[in-house]
Amino acid sequence: MKRDGEIIKTSFVGIAGNILLVAGKIVVGLLASSISIITDAVNNLTDAMSSIVTIVGTKLSGKKPDKKHPYGHGRTEFITSALIAMIIFVAGALAIYESVVSLIDGEQPAYDVYSFVIVSLAIVVKIALGLYFRLRGNKLSSDALRASGTDALMDSILSFGTLVGALISYLTGVHLEGYIGIVIGLLIIKSSIDVFRESASKIIGERTDAAFAKNMVDDIAKVPGVLGVYDLIINNYGADRNIASVHVEVADDMTAKEIQAMERSIGYICYEKFGTIMTVGVYAKNDETEGQKMIKEKILSIVKDYPEILQTHGFYADEERRVISLDIVISFDCKTPDKTYKEVCEKVSAAYPDYTIQIVIDNDFSLSE
Ligand SMILES: [Zn+2]
Repeated sequence: MKRDGEIIKTSFVGIAGNILLVAGKIVVGLLASSISIITDAVNNLTDAMSSIVTIVGTKLSGKKPDKKHPYGHGRTEFITSALIAMIIFVAGALAIYESVVSLIDGEQPAYDVYSFVIVSLAIVVKIALGLYFRLRGNKLSSDALRASGTDALMDSILSFGTLVGALISYLTGVHLEGYIGIVIGLLIIKSSIDVFRESASKIIGERTDAAFAKNMVDDIAKVPGVLGVYDLIINNYGADRNIASVHVEVADDMTAKEIQAMERSIGYICYEKFGTIMTVGVYAKNDETEGQKMIKEKILSIVKDYPEILQTHGFYADEERRVISLDIVISFDCKTPDKTYKEVCEKVSAAYPDYTIQIVIDNDFSLSE
């Protein structure tokens, strides 16, 4: 896939850049016997490692669907992002450890002008790398690249702290490197937790982007024969790989032939435009007879007393079989959805005691913003 190739190319730029930084800093760090610059170099080495993890992750998530994983392997990328977060965490812990050790040892580094020039240059390179990763990550919607970009920008702050500490110790003889290192180490650990939380949240399964869902619903609504679009559920298995389902309302005298033509159009639009494999379910619209209209109005007036009910749909009153069916979507903000459901069921049953009442709770998968 082209996207995978681009991610891998970007990661190779990261590996090359970081190895260059590691080499430069190790030389300077050893010559100046500065523990903070050597630690900084080790930290850059973990970045090169995380780029390698990104390449492996991309290769794995690009793997074709197979019998065991028919939804593809796209979610592997969320796991590699979590692994990168752990690498950042280790680097942060390492920075704190080394800083404490240097404080205890009271080591006196000896900087010269060249150390400052090279460390400054390294900061510029690191910022450029970080921005490049962010840019490519956003363009290719790759969490792994974005995570690497965040890591690189955090590291440029770490390097800057190292530079400031070195300058102060060079100019005044006061050695602050250890303290600066501890603060920066804590910041790195915080960023690692943020990256980890984001990828963990994606692994658990997040709500679909509201704008994406709305565009899809709007396009489905335009298909001839569709009178209403409800219950859009989108399961994401990595970039551009969605398995979804939706309910559409249609006239209750539509033939199977007409429904099939409509379903085909919906399926095609979702696949072509949204990279989504769509299954369509059908609700028949019926508020034709006076009796049906009255029942619907009555039920809507019952539901109106519950602001936590975001939507009522799929209403059907079968006067022959004596069945009333409808769905209600209850807001996630409501703490007692079961109570709401029970009350609505009881009120509808009380109003129509000779009917069988079938009310289904739908989750707010993509309805509200
Ligand atoms: Zn529904």
